[in-house]
Amino acid sequence: MKLNELTAHELLDLIKTKKETAASIFSAVKRAIDALDKKINAYAHISEKPIESTDSSKENPIPIAIKDNICIKDYLTTCSSHILEGFKPPYNATVVNKLLDSGALITGHANMDEFAFGSSTETSFFGPTRNPWNLECVPGGSSGGSAAAVAANEAIWALGSDTGGSIRQPASFCGVVGLKPTYGRVSRYGLIAFASSLDQIGPLTKDVEDSALLLNLISGHDEMDSTSANLSVPDYAKALTGDIRNLKIGIPKEYFIEGIDPEVKTNIMEAIEVLKKKGAQFKEISLPHTEYAVATYYILATAEASSNLARFDGVEYGLRCHPKEKRRTPIIDMYEETRRQGFGQEAKRRIMLGTYSLSSGYYDAYYLRAQKVRTLIKNDFDEAFKEFDAILTPTSPTTAFKIGEKASDPLSMYLSDIYTISANLAGIPALSLPCGFSKDGLPIGLQVMAKPFDEEMIFRVAHTYEQNTDWHKKKVTL
Ligand code: GLN
Repeated sequence: MKLNELTAHELLDLIKTKKETAASIFSAVKRAIDALDKKINAYAHISEKPIESTDSSKENPIPIAIKDNICIKDYLTTCSSHILEGFKPPYNATVVNKLLDSGALITGHANMDEFAFGSSTETSFFGPTRNPWNLECVPGGSSGGSAAAVAANEAIWALGSDTGGSIRQPASFCGVVGLKPTYGRVSRYGLIAFASSLDQIGPLTKDVEDSALLLNLISGHDEMDSTSANLSVPDYAKALTGDIRNLKIGIPKEYFIEGIDPEVKTNIMEAIEVLKKKGAQFKEISLPHTEYAVATYYILATAEASSNLARFDGVEYGLRCHPKEKRRTPIIDMYEETRRQGFGQEAKRRIMLGTYSLSSGYYDAYYLRAQKVRTLIKNDFDEAFKEFDAILTPTSPTTAFKIGEKASDPLSMYLSDIYTISANLAGIPALSLPCGFSKDGLPIGLQVMAKPFDEEMIFRVAHTYEQNTDWHKKKVTL
């Protein structure tokens, strides 16, 4: 196997025993990027040389792709949007500092749906990313570039962000492991905000062990982010015990109703059997407010987005445009023309939806009501976790769809997040890992959820499943 096809934990063993060097690992990854990225388009911005720290102990010299909405100092950070053209942040996101301090080698910025609005990476200003398992298909989104880079071995690790499923759904579509940590586990300082009460940064990796290693590096309290939790961080690698005897796992019946692809369902049922053999106990449960999750999310997420995106007006960041003719005052004309030219269609749709639901006279009927339903959804999970250690569901109702298939139908695109959104609304951690392939050879993802700050439980269950199956070892042929 080529070096770029290995996991980080395998590579770190080779480094420790001096069988390989950081430079040779980076070159192997760079060769893959040069050979494949014209086809896959996993990257929005590729760095010719690794972005690395000048003074670090270099324990973890792993090539990592960073989603294009996470600030890297003096390096193009554009949310794959025209409006941030040319923008280079004057500081690093906290996760970037942590990675650089540990020795990581940043390969560039991964492509994404514009401002993380989407489930397919088709709304990127830089064009769609393609699914490495089938180039006609989407990689999922919005962290589609991050997931595709890892699946195509154009990075060993990647960071994504997840507001309603944007790490887990692309992980599922690309056959890799993606974790949305608990809200507050990882600092969001330097993550360009989409919906601040939902956003979390998390790892995309080739297996569960790598997910635990990467979470170790990026977690923890940060005084620059008041929503980061002031709690100690366990060593997640210690959770990989392989022992799930007598764990109680709930299967929510609301996740297996109409719309689920029968192949997805069959694979999830088979995964349950694997875990039963290892001693876990399963029971059907109910999360009764599940049916309101998508509607609630699209009120709250668009409201927060419309307010977060108000800062992009041509003054401080990126693009600045002036209309040819005078319309109102010069400054208003500049704001309007910059936003007209700078934002894509989906971003405009969301800004309008969000502004509408926050406007006076509508606020109580939409935003406030959605906040209340959010609490009911969270209560469902709190109840379930009184009795159960973990919850298991599919990550997505279908496998990867074709490029263009849903692009002109926003509602059907929004519905592809039906299984991932609740975890963001409730603030709980959730991970997707490969659990099989469709007849067409497309990956299927299994989602494991646990109570807040119990990522260890998720790793324990997911790792045990992975140790007893071979799905994560299947490689893309390109
Ligand atoms: N697909 C969802 C949306 O379009 C989630 C995106 C995300 O998690 N960033 O909003």
